[in-house]
Amino acid sequence: MDLMEKIVSLCKRRGFVYPGSEIYGGIQGFWDYGPLGVELKNNIKKLWWKSMVHERDDVVGLDAAIIMNPSVWEASGHTQAFTDPLVECKSCHHRFRVDEVSEKCPDCGGPFTEPKTFNLLTEVYLGSTEPKQKAYLRGEITQGVFINFKNIVDSSRVEIPFGIAQIGKAFRNEITPGNFNFRSREFEQMELEFFVKPEEAEGQKWLDYWKQQRLDWYLGFGINKDNLRLREHAPDERAHYARLAFDIEYNSPFGWKEFEGIHHRGNWDLSRHKVTYQNYTPWVIETSGGVDRAALFFLIDSYSEVGDRVILKLHPQLAPYKVAVFPLVANKPDLAKKAREIYLQLKLKLPTVWDDRGNIGKRYYTQDEIGTPWCVTVDYQTLEDGTVTVRDRDTAQQERVSVTQLDSYFSKKLK
Ligand code: ATP
Repeated sequence: MDLMEKIVSLCKRRGFVYPGSEIYGGIQGFWDYGPLGVELKNNIKKLWWKSMVHERDDVVGLDAAIIMNPSVWEASGHTQAFTDPLVECKSCHHRFRVDEVSEKCPDCGGPFTEPKTFNLLTEVYLGSTEPKQKAYLRGEITQGVFINFKNIVDSSRVEIPFGIAQIGKAFRNEITPGNFNFRSREFEQMELEFFVKPEEAEGQKWLDYWKQQRLDWYLGFGINKDNLRLREHAPDERAHYARLAFDIEYNSPFGWKEFEGIHHRGNWDLSRHKVTYQNYTPWVIETSGGVDRAALFFLIDSYSEVGDRVILKLHPQLAPYKVAVFPLVANKPDLAKKAREIYLQLKLKLPTVWDDRGNIGKRYYTQDEIGTPWCVTVDYQTLEDGTVTVRDRDTAQQERVSVTQLDSYFSKKLK
């Protein structure tokens, strides 16, 4: 099995990610997150929000509607320019993004048509009277920020330079969804639009600043630095709104791929929506990351094998469960009772999981595979001196810790 097959299988088996609508044969480009996947994604979003909003005094948050007046997408240029070039195989009629295939159809070897542009916006129809009103599921969460720019300036105390952060679902009718959840048709974005004075030096300063901040954020949560790089877009590669664009790329099993985009959007959006600030149109520096891609790349980057054991070395802050608690043996009532007590006490403070199946070795194996950083074992000594064994996922080292100290022991480790 190659690495991607291992990741996909682990995700399904352990409850991170399932194929969407699986019992009906699936639906291409949609994924469902299971009990562990939703925890991982929530942790990514929570940590992003903490660093982008709560720890700063120049960024505020927003949660705009997914469906907006279709005029928004006219003004933003998306109905016209939010396109990918598409080719169709003349023999089997399968369609592909030009930049993802070579000369011949990968499915049957047939020749391609000339490329034509394909709009990625997903249409929806609203209302009960015919003709129904056509609208779009948002193709990027960004526009919700620009159309609320004035509301936010008027209703809060922000002053330029400042940013508006948002996390939410976006939808793209991707021609070739694939590489697991790397390219889906429904996905979540985490974005910052940072508004600055329209001056070259100011734009450059904040572009450099945000590039570094976002790189550091991924490195801080454990991505191996050799697997991250910044790549500048060539002029013909830039989206229709971008003056300058950089991608933070990840060295994935399917090549160097975009993790997050850092874009200098200039005054494109605000001027298209005819929005100003005082007497000028601010410029925008954007950081636009994908929550699903982050989840995937964190999983890939943390995957390791020692013999036949799999260890997900997820940063403890990202791990779905922080602690697993078990009795040394399941069939001794006094051990089980004590372990249960400790489990319920820890669960009030931290995402904690209970496991009393199989033997200790097997439970460690399971917890390593889902990335739980610490396992607490309650044994006979616990009943005598009130201490438990805490085993560390990455070093497999064990130490005795007093039950009364467990809370502070883990909160220190999680700092
Ligand atoms: P690509 O070149 O891969 O299609 P893009 O340049 O169109 O991506 P942006 O419009 O810059 O992507 O979107 C910002 C971020 O949103 C991306 O860096 C990525 O993390 C995420 N994203 C975009 N499209 C998808 C998708 N189809 N599935 C999952 N995440 C996506």
